[in-house]
Amino acid sequence: MSRIISVVNQKGGVGKTTTAVNLAVYLAKLGNFVLLVDLDPQANATSGIGVDHKNINAGVYEVMLGPYSMRQVALSLDPLGLKIIPANQNLAGANIELVSQAEREHRLYNELLEVKHDYDYIIIDSPPSLGLLTINGLVAADEILIPVQCEYFALEGLGQLLNTVALVKQYLKPNLNILGAVMTMFDERNKLAKEVFNELYRYFPNKIFRTVIPRNSKLAEAPSFGKSILHYDPSGRGAKAYERLAKELMEYTRLKK
Ligand code: ATP
Ligand code: MG
Repeated sequence: MSRIISVVNQKGGVGKTTTAVNLAVYLAKLGNFVLLVDLDPQANATSGIGVDHKNINAGVYEVMLGPYSMRQVALSLDPLGLKIIPANQNLAGANIELVSQAEREHRLYNELLEVKHDYDYIIIDSPPSLGLLTINGLVAADEILIPVQCEYFALEGLGQLLNTVALVKQYLKPNLNILGAVMTMFDERNKLAKEVFNELYRYFPNKIFRTVIPRNSKLAEAPSFGKSILHYDPSGRGAKAYERLAKELMEYTRLKK
């Protein structure tokens, strides 16, 4: 049974892409068939994993709004079993172009239906907004995963996100679940981390991942080399954390089957 997981938070720079990319890579390394979908016009997941988005003539935009299918645009990556649906510059117009389309919230869902059973996990990286691209990511998903940066204003905007999720559940996707929140960029010297955790617990009792992603310079450097942390610094703390997160997610999703 395959799971479609959207990584969302309309707050910018909280670790969505870092989490989507490295989680996808480790899920594949652990033996799963994984599809990473780059739904962000910034194309950070695409370039961060070593695909030159300027040379992509068909990506997620051409699947959602053009004649291509997911199978036609999927690119194979290392480790074996990992593929990506890349983003390219055309995606920048999608939030506006989708407005006038039929089934505008279901475009991604409809396209993923066709390939869903080729994969164990489909991981969607969302842009930092609650526009139609993110809504497409939510409607397509079985579950959502919310990275939360360990900092003072971390919880700001979370209410708005949960409101949007509730509306999507009510009107578009009744069986959308919140898989959980993941704390990212945790700094041991930062006294706020405990407070962030306690606050977060009020929003997500029993839904905070045990794995905490540390602030780690290798995680920040890896995308500039077009590498995941598995290829850039496989024995470092960042890599260990994302491997643990992948295992924890597998454990969770197995229990929920
Ligand atoms: P956006 O909202 O723009 O899509 P995002 O939520 O996808 O951003 P990332 O791009 O993953 O966030 O991370 C923001 C920045 O922080 C990037 O430069 C990234 O390399 C860096 N970063 C992410 N996670 C970590 C970490 N655990 N330790 C250190 N740096 C990190
Ligand atoms: Mg991003």
